[in-house]
Amino acid sequence: MARAMGLKVVAAALMALTLWALDGPALVIGLVATVMGFVAVVAWGIVAPGSQLFVPGVSSLSGDRRHTEVAFTFDDGPDPSTTPAVLQLLARHGAKATFFVVGSRAEAYPDLVRRIVAEGHVVGSHTFHHSTRFHFSSPRAMREEILRGVEAVRAITGVAPQLFRPPQGLRTPMLRDAMRSLPELTCVMWSERGLDAMGRQAPAIVERLTPALEGGAIITLHDGGGFGGTIDRAPTVAALAALLALADTRRLTCVSLSETRQQNS
Ligand SMILES: [Zn+2]
Repeated sequence: MARAMGLKVVAAALMALTLWALDGPALVIGLVATVMGFVAVVAWGIVAPGSQLFVPGVSSLSGDRRHTEVAFTFDDGPDPSTTPAVLQLLARHGAKATFFVVGSRAEAYPDLVRRIVAEGHVVGSHTFHHSTRFHFSSPRAMREEILRGVEAVRAITGVAPQLFRPPQGLRTPMLRDAMRSLPELTCVMWSERGLDAMGRQAPAIVERLTPALEGGAIITLHDGGGFGGTIDRAPTVAALAALLALADTRRLTCVSLSETRQQNS
């Protein structure tokens, strides 16, 4: 922490010195470049799945098993039109996965949540409402929303999720403050996502994820429709069938994130 602060002070001092040495158009260009650089760093910290700038997160598997294992994750469910098909495919391949469920949807379809657990998969939380407003909330409101999502799952399964994924994977400074008071939760990102919520068809999803399907990968797909994206998840199911077959061909074992958490903590 002290080292990071020291680096920030040195960077700020160098920047101030540089700007002081400039004048006229060069000063304007220097100021604009400084502001743009600052904005770029903040945006990277919020959006990039591998960033540890604001909220530490897991974006790949670690330890020896990263060579032979891959973790599929599914967001926005449960959804009666898609989750059963996803579970059926996973079972057919002997694959385990992690489902980041939305609390309100878990409450609407508790049997699906119970089935996910009964079939050996892990349930994480993806907030209660999955609202875009979440990102503009106070840390306190964020904390309440996160805890409500966690409690929704605990009430159904008897076990409180220990894994959390923020909506859209965005990790803001406000989320950092909220997560500091929730040390029991690990934030999980991804090494690659299928962008299936954006209306892609199965071949495009498969094409995007084929190079990423390697040992240590955390792959994100969606078994729940909507939330600003497309509702039809048939392409996701079709893509998953192809990706699971590809994982078999590559001799990769599909695991849930239950054991992985200990490896990364
Ligand atoms: Zn989501």
